[in-house]
Amino acid sequence: MSRLTGAGEQRGAEVIDEHGDTVPLPVVPSGGDPEKLDYHPGKSRAVAPILKKVALGLAVCLVAGAGYAGLQYIANAPAGPNTRGSHQPVSTPSADQAQAGVQRAVAGEAVLQKMADAVATDHRSEFLNTIDPNSTAFQATARMIFGNLSTLPLGTFQLRYVSEDASGLTPDRKLELGGTQAWLAQVEVSWQLSGFDVTPARETLPVTFVTRDGKTYAASFSERFAAGQRRPVWALGPLEMAKGKRSLVIGLGSATDAKSYVPVADKAVESVSKVWGKKWRQKVIVYLPARQAQMEGILGAQPNTYTQIAAVTMAELDQPAANAPVRIVANPKLFEELGKQGRRIVLTHETTHVASNATASPVPLWLAEGFADYVAFTAVPVQDDSAAKELFKAVRAGKVPATLPTPEAFAASAADLPQAYESAWLANRLIAEREGQDKLVAFYRAVDRSGSTTGLADAFKSVLGMTEAEFVAQWQKYLKRLAGA
Ligand SMILES: [Zn+2]
Repeated sequence: MSRLTGAGEQRGAEVIDEHGDTVPLPVVPSGGDPEKLDYHPGKSRAVAPILKKVALGLAVCLVAGAGYAGLQYIANAPAGPNTRGSHQPVSTPSADQAQAGVQRAVAGEAVLQKMADAVATDHRSEFLNTIDPNSTAFQATARMIFGNLSTLPLGTFQLRYVSEDASGLTPDRKLELGGTQAWLAQVEVSWQLSGFDVTPARETLPVTFVTRDGKTYAASFSERFAAGQRRPVWALGPLEMAKGKRSLVIGLGSATDAKSYVPVADKAVESVSKVWGKKWRQKVIVYLPARQAQMEGILGAQPNTYTQIAAVTMAELDQPAANAPVRIVANPKLFEELGKQGRRIVLTHETTHVASNATASPVPLWLAEGFADYVAFTAVPVQDDSAAKELFKAVRAGKVPATLPTPEAFAASAADLPQAYESAWLANRLIAEREGQDKLVAFYRAVDRSGSTTGLADAFKSVLGMTEAEFVAQWQKYLKRLAGA
């Protein structure tokens, strides 16, 4: 999942290292929580620059199965402090209660429809008329959200009332909201960016409703948000948008200059098309959060999961799917520190994942990650010695990898993460050098297309004319030769 190799040093070359030294790229400490490694008394001088360099070498993609969060999280979400635990017996609602629930759903759905209509017709006052006049904080949020939605090139925008969250509001919160009734509902929001998305992005949004003086309003979009639940980018802060020929860059917060990333993103698309061909949408959407917490909100990640990750490619859906709306999400701090060349490498790597549909592809990680690095390092060449430093060190010490890197080797906490990326990159490069770049692309596509468990073995045979074992033997020789072992 993460990128960490000697290439990081190449990327880090443009980074100001406060110690001005050349700390060798370290191996990621195994199994450690990144946040726990930092700043031990007496160790901080050594640890901090190392961590910084580690961070700079990272680019990441979320492939199928990772990073999807939605309704399934809500069931496990902790309720408010005054509500009962989930093990309490649940009584069957009476007919009257069920009827009241239906009425609330109808009232809530009507509010959502008015909101969606106001967004579609760009009627600010109508949108704001649906917001609870007593919820002053949410009034401000709603103004920001409407402004954001007006800025984005929305093709569609829909809100669908999914279900009421019966224990969602604590008695205190209900009291605070007042009115004749107040409740929390889960709402599916779907929205499509014109000219970029072929299918809509989808998220689940908790919407608080309150009825007062016979009228129902929305009073919050963030009540009882479950940790790990994704949030739409337009609900996280004021947006800044910049559009390029091939890219849409959406920044959050004034510190981020979306415009300056447009040429880099456009160039990344061009670089990827040179290798992958032009049979893809040739467009990318890049999110530039201003804070780590916003990145976690977009990804639906637990706090501090991505402190060491420069960028992530994600499908903005709860389930992997072909033609999914895919976004590259940058880690604000690390991405900024990468420097121009580093950002180009990272964006080219991530754009390769976008082009090759990696969020929903069955290709093994060594092929997905190695291919993305192959494309990135073709666009921005790096020295082998620096880009495969950890691997060469191991090979020279007689530790030639016995197999292509396993999926586990790409876990963010894996001990030999740099070698996994370096091994994968050089496996892909060997195919391109021996058989030609077109064959490498054909091989990738063949594995990607195959729905069967023998897809990889079949592609080795049909495209490369060898077995995986034969390829591994050649690759081991290649690594020894490159490492001078
Ligand atoms: Zn990747």
